[in-house]
Amino acid sequence: MPTSRRSRRRPYSEEPPPLDLERATGGRSTQSRGGEEWVVQRIREGAKEYVCPGCHQTVAVGAEHVVAWRTDGIMGAAAALADRRHWHSSCWQRAR
Ligand SMILES: [Zn+2]
Repeated sequence: MPTSRRSRRRPYSEEPPPLDLERATGGRSTQSRGGEEWVVQRIREGAKEYVCPGCHQTVAVGAEHVVAWRTDGIMGAAAALADRRHWHSSCWQRAR
Protein backbone atom coordinates (compact mmCIF):
# COMPACT_ATOMS: atom_id res chain seq x y z
CA MET A 1 0.00 0.00 0.00
CA PRO A 2 1.50 3.35 -0.92
CA THR A 3 2.24 5.75 1.86
CA SER A 4 2.37 9.50 1.99
CA ARG A 5 6.02 9.39 2.89
CA ARG A 6 6.81 7.96 -0.52
CA SER A 7 4.78 10.53 -2.43
CA ARG A 8 7.40 13.25 -2.64
CA ARG A 9 7.85 14.38 -6.19
CA ARG A 10 11.04 13.54 -7.97
CA PRO A 11 12.06 16.51 -10.10
CA TYR A 12 13.68 14.55 -12.86
CA SER A 13 13.72 10.83 -13.40
CA GLU A 14 13.32 7.74 -11.33
CA GLU A 15 16.95 6.92 -11.92
CA PRO A 16 18.85 7.32 -8.67
CA PRO A 17 21.96 9.45 -8.80
CA PRO A 18 25.26 7.63 -8.81
CA LEU A 19 26.84 6.76 -5.55
CA ASP A 20 29.40 9.49 -5.50
CA LEU A 21 29.58 9.68 -1.74
CA GLU A 22 32.72 7.74 -1.16
CA ARG A 23 35.05 9.82 -3.28
CA ALA A 24 33.68 13.19 -2.25
CA THR A 25 33.06 12.80 1.41
CA GLY A 26 33.48 15.69 3.74
CA GLY A 27 32.06 14.07 6.84
CA ARG A 28 28.85 12.36 7.80
CA SER A 29 26.62 12.99 10.74
CA THR A 30 23.21 12.01 12.03
CA GLN A 31 20.79 14.80 12.77
CA SER A 32 17.33 14.88 14.25
CA ARG A 33 14.85 16.91 12.30
CA GLY A 34 11.15 17.11 13.02
CA GLY A 35 11.40 14.01 15.14
CA GLU A 36 13.02 12.09 12.31
CA GLU A 37 16.58 10.89 12.14
CA TRP A 38 18.53 11.89 9.06
CA VAL A 39 21.98 10.99 7.88
CA VAL A 40 23.64 14.11 6.55
CA GLN A 41 26.62 13.68 4.32
CA ARG A 42 28.69 16.67 3.34
CA ILE A 43 29.79 16.73 -0.26
CA ARG A 44 32.81 18.84 -0.97
CA GLU A 45 32.34 18.89 -4.72
CA GLY A 46 29.16 17.82 -6.47
CA ALA A 47 29.67 15.55 -9.46
CA LYS A 48 26.50 16.67 -11.22
CA GLU A 49 23.64 19.11 -10.90
CA TYR A 50 20.88 18.51 -8.40
CA VAL A 51 17.71 20.36 -7.51
CA CYS A 52 17.69 21.51 -3.92
CA PRO A 53 14.39 20.54 -2.25
CA GLY A 54 14.68 23.56 0.01
CA CYS A 55 14.68 26.31 -2.60
CA HIS A 56 14.11 24.36 -5.84
CA GLN A 57 17.21 25.96 -7.30
CA THR A 58 20.06 24.10 -8.90
CA VAL A 59 22.94 22.80 -6.85
CA ALA A 60 25.73 23.52 -9.29
CA VAL A 61 28.32 21.02 -10.40
CA GLY A 62 31.32 21.33 -8.15
CA ALA A 63 29.41 23.10 -5.41
CA GLU A 64 29.80 22.08 -1.82
CA HIS A 65 26.49 20.86 -0.47
CA VAL A 66 24.90 18.20 1.71
CA VAL A 67 22.99 15.06 0.89
CA ALA A 68 20.47 13.80 3.41
CA TRP A 69 18.34 10.74 3.85
CA ARG A 70 16.20 9.18 6.53
CA THR A 71 17.77 6.63 8.82
CA ASP A 72 14.39 5.20 9.76
CA GLY A 73 12.62 5.09 6.41
CA ILE A 74 9.66 2.77 6.59
CA MET A 75 10.64 1.24 3.28
CA GLY A 76 14.02 0.29 4.69
CA ALA A 77 17.48 1.74 4.70
CA ALA A 78 18.20 0.95 1.08
CA ALA A 79 15.04 2.69 -0.12
CA ALA A 80 15.77 5.68 2.10
CA LEU A 81 19.25 5.92 0.69
CA ALA A 82 17.92 5.71 -2.86
CA ASP A 83 15.54 8.54 -1.98
CA ARG A 84 18.25 10.81 -0.63
CA ARG A 85 18.19 14.47 -1.60
CA HIS A 86 20.91 16.99 -2.28
CA TRP A 87 20.56 20.33 -0.52
CA HIS A 88 22.43 23.58 -0.49
CA SER A 89 24.16 23.61 2.88
CA SER A 90 22.40 26.84 3.81
CA CYS A 91 18.99 25.50 2.78
CA TRP A 92 19.45 22.39 4.87
CA GLN A 93 20.37 24.48 7.89
CA ARG A 94 17.40 26.77 7.34
CA ALA A 95 15.00 23.87 6.83
CA ARG A 96 15.90 22.38 10.14
ZN1 LIG B 1 18.70 25.45 -1.87
